Amino acid sequence: MIGVAVLGSTGSIGESTLDVLRQHPDRFRAVALTAHRNAERLFAQCVEFRPEVALIADASLHAALAARLRAAGLPTKLLAGGDELPAIAALPSADYVMAAIVGAAGLNSTLAAAGAGKRLLIANKEALVMAGRQVLAAARQSGATIIPIDSEHNAVFQCLPSATVLGAEPPGVRRVMLTASGGPFRSWSASALQNATPEQACAHPTWNMGRKISVDSATLMNKGLELIEAQLLFGLPVERIEVVIHPQSVVHSLVEYIDGSVLAQLGSPDMRTPIAQALAWPQRLASGVQFLDLLQVARLDFEPPDLGRFPCLGLAIAAARAGAEMPAVLSAANEVAVEAFLEGRLNFAGIEQVIGDVMNGWLSTGGTPGLEAVLAADARARALAAERIAPANSPRSIRA
Ligand code: NAD
Ligand code: MG
Repeated sequence: MIGVAVLGSTGSIGESTLDVLRQHPDRFRAVALTAHRNAERLFAQCVEFRPEVALIADASLHAALAARLRAAGLPTKLLAGGDELPAIAALPSADYVMAAIVGAAGLNSTLAAAGAGKRLLIANKEALVMAGRQVLAAARQSGATIIPIDSEHNAVFQCLPSATVLGAEPPGVRRVMLTASGGPFRSWSASALQNATPEQACAHPTWNMGRKISVDSATLMNKGLELIEAQLLFGLPVERIEVVIHPQSVVHSLVEYIDGSVLAQLGSPDMRTPIAQALAWPQRLASGVQFLDLLQVARLDFEPPDLGRFPCLGLAIAAARAGAEMPAVLSAANEVAVEAFLEGRLNFAGIEQVIGDVMNGWLSTGGTPGLEAVLAADARARALAAERIAPANSPRSIRA
């Protein structure tokens, strides 16, 4: 029986993970579950999976939830606060850790799982963009196995030789091609994009995801973060990673080899496939996903991304090239800008402006930053981004 800690269990990836675990009670046991504020859903998950430990990051919700768990006669011990997440990630009974918290809030637990020698199923791309080197180094030292969950990186992982070491350039690879759906605004004009609403941005045509990554998909920042993630995981320079818009979201990514072979991984757009792949690797596991019907799909289209309408991708490419702490700066400013957009304090076009302003004004110290320098850059970039976003209705507010 394999123990699995699901960090961010109430989110889109967390729920998909639990759905795969639910189908294989003979092989996997959810030993730990964590949520930010959704106590209702966390309670229901505890009733169903009876984990050893659960955590609610918002400590103000701890007492009421703990009482409910006790009243229901559950064995689950309830922890509170984000600072306790690393303890959950390093739990002795957790053989595997699913890192599915969104944003920099997932970094401490991702690092802890890597340091504790777990099989780390990593969906939390922001942690890799911020401090991927540290995550890989911790895994190397402890002997942890990292398997990417992001569908594109999981696809590339599946197309690489089985002996591939993450972080090192795979032999014989010429290029990696990351596919992107293009998001809900793929065919929108630049002027219509200016004032796209959060509801429109979160209505993704092919994937059903959390709100932050949905907005990132609409700006194409998601593909930018993924480019940095790929650079790190597959040890390739940004020039050898190509982004291709593929609206059907059926080809999840491709690897081109020096002999001209191109290997791709295909499947229905459903995150339970990469999750099951990572849980079972190197074997295979049924995931409950609808099998691909190529005749139904009928055609596969590919087009180049439009950096003019989607400047966030250009900013991410610049951050990937700059290296050092710039990816962390990009990701932190993006988190602040996307939150403001979702709360109606910033318009859609303002997201790119805020991130661009923070990056343009940034004085890099150069070199490879350690964890402390990354965290300092993250905090400073957040403060700078927040300064750029004035309260709604103020003349200083950015309305591009
Ligand atoms: P989501 O918003 O649906 O869920 C996020 C989870 O993290 C929730 O359980 C939430 O309670 C928890 N969380 C949020 N803030 C927290 C905090 N401050 N402290 C502790 N916990 C916190 O997001 P999602 O779509 O499931 O995405 C999760 C991660 O996976 C993201 O990094 C995203 O980029 C990545 N990812 C998601 C998908 C997808 O299809 N949803 C695909 C690829 C990668
Ligand atoms: Mg992805």
